[in-house]
Amino acid sequence: MLSYIRRHLGLKLFFSYLVVIVMGVAVLASTAEMVVPAAFQQNMAAMLPMMSSMMGGSPQALNQSLYTNFQAAVSEALSMAAAAATVTAVIASLLISRQVVAPVQAMMAASWHIAEGHYEERVRVAGNIPNQEQDELGRLALSFNQMADRLEHIESMRRQLIGDVTHELRTPLTTIKGSMEGLMDGVLPTNAETYSQIYREADRLQRLVNDLQELSRVEAGAYDLHLQTTSVKALVDSTIVRLGSQFLEKGVSISTQISLDLPSIKVDEDRIGQVLLNLVGNALQYTPSGGSVQISATGGPTQVQIAIADTGVGIPPEHLPHVFTRFYRVDKSRSRTGGGSGIGLTIAKHLVEAHGGSIWVESPGVGKGSSFIFTLPIGDKIV
Ligand code: ADP
Repeated sequence: MLSYIRRHLGLKLFFSYLVVIVMGVAVLASTAEMVVPAAFQQNMAAMLPMMSSMMGGSPQALNQSLYTNFQAAVSEALSMAAAAATVTAVIASLLISRQVVAPVQAMMAASWHIAEGHYEERVRVAGNIPNQEQDELGRLALSFNQMADRLEHIESMRRQLIGDVTHELRTPLTTIKGSMEGLMDGVLPTNAETYSQIYREADRLQRLVNDLQELSRVEAGAYDLHLQTTSVKALVDSTIVRLGSQFLEKGVSISTQISLDLPSIKVDEDRIGQVLLNLVGNALQYTPSGGSVQISATGGPTQVQIAIADTGVGIPPEHLPHVFTRFYRVDKSRSRTGGGSGIGLTIAKHLVEAHGGSIWVESPGVGKGSSFIFTLPIGDKIV
């Protein structure tokens, strides 16, 4: 019995109310018991001489009988009042404990539902009361719903990721399988072109897997930033050294415009180098031969701003808000043949934000080039 009560909040509340009621009744009874003789003396004794002269008989006997009747009347009135009060209090405490327990039970049921994978489950929050005016249970329900929102969002991201990854893996795998079948059936010629096509697809798969691994690492924040004081110019120069020959090969010119008074930055050189390599590599990829790419850097009081502007294919305005979303490609067929997985900009965004900066894109429209701009806090302003 005791352990049953211990396991039910509603019963605990009810019994605690009951204890209060019993104690109230006990105090009422004992106080009345103590107070009755004095009250009798104060209110009834004065009437005794008058009553004994009216009714005859000894005043002592009258006093005794009057006292007994007075006490009986008080006890009767008190017990009836106590019974009525107890019944009302029991009903009220039942209702109140049920009202307190109901939201807790609702949250318990909702959490079971969520645990079973129904992430859309929410609990009802009392009325339209604003957050700060809710009581503890109301606030608990609100935080429960916020937690459910987050879980639902994470779950939908997980599903989306699995769907995206499956989709990305399927294309090169289908091509590899098709080519191998063609080779086995003798439909495809066993020449260098066939082998290099298979190699290209396998290479794409490998890059995709590497990008995914990198993405999961940056998204989980599972990497350390080794911050060093360095100059923007040094980082830009090393990017140009790495990509210079590819620019020459494609016939795209590259130039820089870096303010002389630019303050030094405190960043992880490898990570920001990775961001630059990605943005400048994209600029090269999406700029046809004869075009140009310019890297410029300017300094403000708290941050430096680095922009990579190209004269390439540009980005239609409706795509601009999405290019940093993973797997997002403006022209799916074009960037797929170019080997893009649509992950590079997502990684770049994470890395820039990890340094306390921000990144965005501007483009006047299709065929009018685009500029990717990012900021980095200077010196010790780093987070
Ligand atoms: P990808 O590996 O496909 O290039 P990114 O994440 O680097 O992936 O880029 C996402 C998409 O943004 C690209 O597929 C492309 O459509 C668009 N994009 C990126 N950089 C440029 C650029 N300099 N000019 C035009 N479009 C670009």
